[in-house]
Amino acid sequence: MKNKKITRKISQGVYVLTTSSGGCVVDAVSQVSAGDNPYISVAVMKSNYTCELVKKNKKFALSVLGRDVSGNIIDTFGLKSGRDIDKFQNVDLLREDDLPVLKDSLGYMICEVIDQIDTGSHILYIGKLVEADVFKDTEVLTYQYYQEHKDEYIRFETMKGKIAWVCTMCGYVYYGEILPDDFICSRCGVGKEYFEKREDA
Ligand code: FE
Repeated sequence: MKNKKITRKISQGVYVLTTSSGGCVVDAVSQVSAGDNPYISVAVMKSNYTCELVKKNKKFALSVLGRDVSGNIIDTFGLKSGRDIDKFQNVDLLREDDLPVLKDSLGYMICEVIDQIDTGSHILYIGKLVEADVFKDTEVLTYQYYQEHKDEYIRFETMKGKIAWVCTMCGYVYYGEILPDDFICSRCGVGKEYFEKREDA
């Protein structure tokens, strides 16, 4: 492949996917059909606890994040696992069509799963939109804006005197002279190309 980085130019947003008992940050969301109840696709990393929950519940909500979203939302749904904490304890939720959605969002979409495709690393869920609402019409948080301003949303610390590799997607820190070529972020699943070297003397 000549340069895979072109895939980073795919325009994406940042969303929180929730089911009845858990949720996580997702970016691969698309409307893939027209009509009154369009189909919405979303890819969820298989290693994510939320992926199992969607499989069981057959229904999910997508809360659309705005630029003004609190770092706490990114931290809770992007950097922590529902296996370890109850994510819903940390945030303000509304109940819509039997599912929790984030109050701190531009609005939500509720979908019923009608199909799923195993893509290897992720499960691509195809959902039919059954309910939706707009809370406010302010700037949406795009994946690109998040990348350019991630220091405002995620916090990480590196140890002094050690060579650290920081995942630019989620803030996960790996210590070591070299980052192996096949390295995969254990927190968010991205490859080596998303890591930046930091050396604090
Ligand atoms: Fe990561």
